[in-house]
Amino acid sequence: MITSKLPNVGITIFTQMSQLAAQTGAINLSQGFPDFDGPQSLRDAVGRHIASGHNQYSPMTGLPALRQQIAAKIARSYGVNVDADHEVTVTPGATQAIFCAIQAVIHSGDEVIVFDPCYDSYAPATELAGGRCVHVHLNPDDFSIDFDQLAAALSPRTKMIVINTPHNPSGALISRDELDQLAALIRDRDIYLISDEVYEHLVFDGVPHVSVLAHEELYQRAFVISSFGKTYHVTGWKTGYVVAPPALTAELRKVHQYVSFCGVTPLQYALADYMAEHPEHVEQLPGFYQAKRDLFCDLLAPSRFSFTRASGTYFQLVDYSQIRPDLNDVDMATWMTREHGVASIPVSVFYQNPPQGQRLIRLCFAKREETLREAAAKLCVI
Ligand code: PMP
Ligand code: GLN
Repeated sequence: MITSKLPNVGITIFTQMSQLAAQTGAINLSQGFPDFDGPQSLRDAVGRHIASGHNQYSPMTGLPALRQQIAAKIARSYGVNVDADHEVTVTPGATQAIFCAIQAVIHSGDEVIVFDPCYDSYAPATELAGGRCVHVHLNPDDFSIDFDQLAAALSPRTKMIVINTPHNPSGALISRDELDQLAALIRDRDIYLISDEVYEHLVFDGVPHVSVLAHEELYQRAFVISSFGKTYHVTGWKTGYVVAPPALTAELRKVHQYVSFCGVTPLQYALADYMAEHPEHVEQLPGFYQAKRDLFCDLLAPSRFSFTRASGTYFQLVDYSQIRPDLNDVDMATWMTREHGVASIPVSVFYQNPPQGQRLIRLCFAKREETLREAAAKLCVI
């Protein structure tokens, strides 16, 4: 008889919905990944590095050339200098980075505050560390932080707060003012922060991403995490990084060296080359994805779904109350996949206690124009 360490965990909704889409032949707007490839020269670089013998372990902390490129990009994007040797660690994916950061600082009985709807990996990682997640709801209308609720959730056991901006699944952005409020709230407390910024370059309408890297006070207690999967359209490469002050980085690396030791070597070489050759790539991403968001939203305008355009990420939330108010969102997503050929993600799965009556599903618009047109045509006749 196995005593499960994660008794309440099943197969993730992303796997379930992608499988259902494959079985039914539906257009898959569920799990977040592009249906187009990353840049050709980036992909070519991987082959080149494999052919030229870059196939053994990289340094545990990540390839120095890649860490330097990350530091250079941070300086360009956010105007801050981080030490590539002591503050930047390359990991096999942001998920692994989140896991290691939580294991590094959470002890048995510690509490971790997360904001619902929240990404699915934070809670299991906390439980495996012996900690407990305290779930605080974001404001239901705009998915901003409810600071009264956050203040009420703080306890002497609170050891960490996890924020995510741009936010999956809502696309909401945390403002500088909100970061200042957060800093004031935890100023005199021994609380660490994870800032999950994997969608840092996917921000729209001219509003810049506000990184915790550029918030001097919060950064002192933060693990800031990003993913090359999102930035270079290569989610399957599972390569990301953590930026944290030296003392936190040292603790993170103690865990990382036993979870995976290092990331995949030829991918790191290829990313370092590409970042050096194409610093403009990240600057073009907001326009690239905003065009997709706008095309998709324009195409959905005549539908019976209602929505506010996402401010960031490559996800669009839509409300289906006008269509099937009788269905909860899991049933709606399943029905839509089977009967109307478009797979989505129900938003309730991102909550510990989903709000009653919420009728929201998430659609991924990181797709080619033809995919978005085909999906929208189906969605407009529901
Ligand atoms: N955080 C959030 C909010 C995400 O949406 C994702 C996407 N999977 C991740 C972390 C994990 O990124 P990665 O695929 O690099 O592990
Ligand atoms: N981040 C992706 C999403 O939100 C899913 C990643 C995964 O399947 N674990 O869709």
